[in-house]
Amino acid sequence: MVPLPAILGRFGGLMKSRTARFLLVAILLCGIPASAQSTHFDGQTWWNHIKVLADDKLEGRDTGSRGERAAQAYAVEQLKSAGAEPAGVDGYYQPVKFVSRQIIEKDCSLALVRDGRREPLALGEDAIISTRIMPAPEVDAPLVFAGYGLKVPEKNYDDFAGVDVRGKIIVILAGSPSEIPGALASHYQTAAERWNVLRAVGAIGIVSLMNPASMDIPWSRVSLNRTHPSMDLDYPEFNETEGAKIGVTVNPAKAEKFLVGSGHTFEEIAALGKDRKPLPHFPLPIALEAKTRVDVTNVESANLVFRLPGSDPGLKNEYVVLSAHLDHIGIGEPINGDRIYNGAMDDGSGSALVLDMAASFRKNPEKQRRSILLVLVTGEEKGLLGSKYFAAHPTVERKSIVADVNVDMFLPIVPLKLLTVLGLDDSDLGERVRQIAQAQGVRVQPDPEPLRNLFCT
Ligand SMILES: [Zn+2]
Repeated sequence: MVPLPAILGRFGGLMKSRTARFLLVAILLCGIPASAQSTHFDGQTWWNHIKVLADDKLEGRDTGSRGERAAQAYAVEQLKSAGAEPAGVDGYYQPVKFVSRQIIEKDCSLALVRDGRREPLALGEDAIISTRIMPAPEVDAPLVFAGYGLKVPEKNYDDFAGVDVRGKIIVILAGSPSEIPGALASHYQTAAERWNVLRAVGAIGIVSLMNPASMDIPWSRVSLNRTHPSMDLDYPEFNETEGAKIGVTVNPAKAEKFLVGSGHTFEEIAALGKDRKPLPHFPLPIALEAKTRVDVTNVESANLVFRLPGSDPGLKNEYVVLSAHLDHIGIGEPINGDRIYNGAMDDGSGSALVLDMAASFRKNPEKQRRSILLVLVTGEEKGLLGSKYFAAHPTVERKSIVADVNVDMFLPIVPLKLLTVLGLDDSDLGERVRQIAQAQGVRVQPDPEPLRNLFCT
C-alpha cells in the first residue's frame, strides 16, 4: 500500500517526463465537486484503484513492462466484474508493436565543418541527437537556415519559397509565426506534416534551435533525458519521417555556434521568435557531420478495449469513448533515492476513473443510452502512440464513435473549481461541458497555452 503523501511526493519526479508535463495542463481537474461528494461519489473506490495502479510493485507501468502487464491484468479483472464486454482484437486486448531506440552516445559524434575545419560539438552540452528520427549512421551535409521550417498552404505561408534546401539539413527556430493560427501551427509542426513538406523540398535532416521563449523544460532536463530510449509504432504506415537522416536539437545557449559567419546572430533570431515575427532565410557557411549508433529493440504491448452496451435501441450502436492511459514512465533517475515513478496522478487517476465509472454505469444501466467504449491506451508517455494506433485501427466501426472523452491527471487535493478542456470549441461537446460544469459550480477554460501543441486536429 502506498500512502497518499508518498504518492503525491512522487509527482515532482514526473516532471522529468516531457509528456507528463504537457499533460499536466491537458485536463486539470482539481478535486471533486462538493455536490458529487455529497450524493453518490465519495472517491473511495476510485482511490483504491489508484493505490493498486501506483503501487511500487507495478514499477511505474512503463510501456511493454511487467508492471504495465500487471496493471492491464488488474483493469481486465475489474472491468470484467463490472460487466464490460471484450471489444479488443484478442478479447479485451488490442496488441500494439513498438520499436524502441536508444542512442549509444559513446559511438556518436557531431561536428560543424567550416572551410574544411572541423569544430566538434559536445553531445548533451551543445546539442543532442534525436531518436524520434532513426538517424543514418553517417551524415555530412550543408546547413541552411529556414526560419520556422513551415509551409502552411491555408495561409500562403512558405519558409522554403526561393530557398534551396535540396540535399541539405535545415536549421530552424522551434515555433511558428503569429500569422499562423494556433491550431494550424500545431498541425503543421507534427512530425508527419513537417516531413511531408521536408521530403517534398528535398531536405534530409533538421536542426532545431530551441526557442528560449517557449521551452517547456530547461536544457539541463532535455539533456538529462537524451539517453532514454524513445519509442515509435513499429508499422510501415506510421513511418512519418521517411527520408529523414538526422534530427538534432540545439541548446539555445550554444546556438550561436550555428550562426557564426552567416551575418545573423542567435540573439536577433531569438528576439524575432519571441514575438513570433517573420524570420529571415539564409545559407549557412557550414556543414554538419554526424556519426550515430542507435540500439534498436522491439517492444510489445496492447491497448485494452471494453464495451458497456447502451440501453436505447436507437442509440446503442453509437459509442462514446472514455479513455485514459494505463502506462507511465517506469523506472528512471532516482529522486530522493526513489527510482520508481509511480504515476499515481499521471495517469493512475484517469485509469482509475475509467474503472470506477464502469462500476457506476453498471449500477445505473438505464442512464446509459449510447454504448460506451472504455479504452485504456498504452505508449502514451512515448508520444500518444497507443491512441494513435487505436485512432488508425478502431476496434469498432469508425463512424459509430461519436465522441471521445479522454482524462489525464486529476489533482484531487484541492476543491474542483477549474476545468481545462483541450479541444473545448472543436466539437459541439463544448457547450455541453460548459453547461454541466456550470451546474457544478466549476469554471471551464480552453487550452491556456495553444502554442504548446497539446491538441492537434
Ligand atoms: Zn498523462
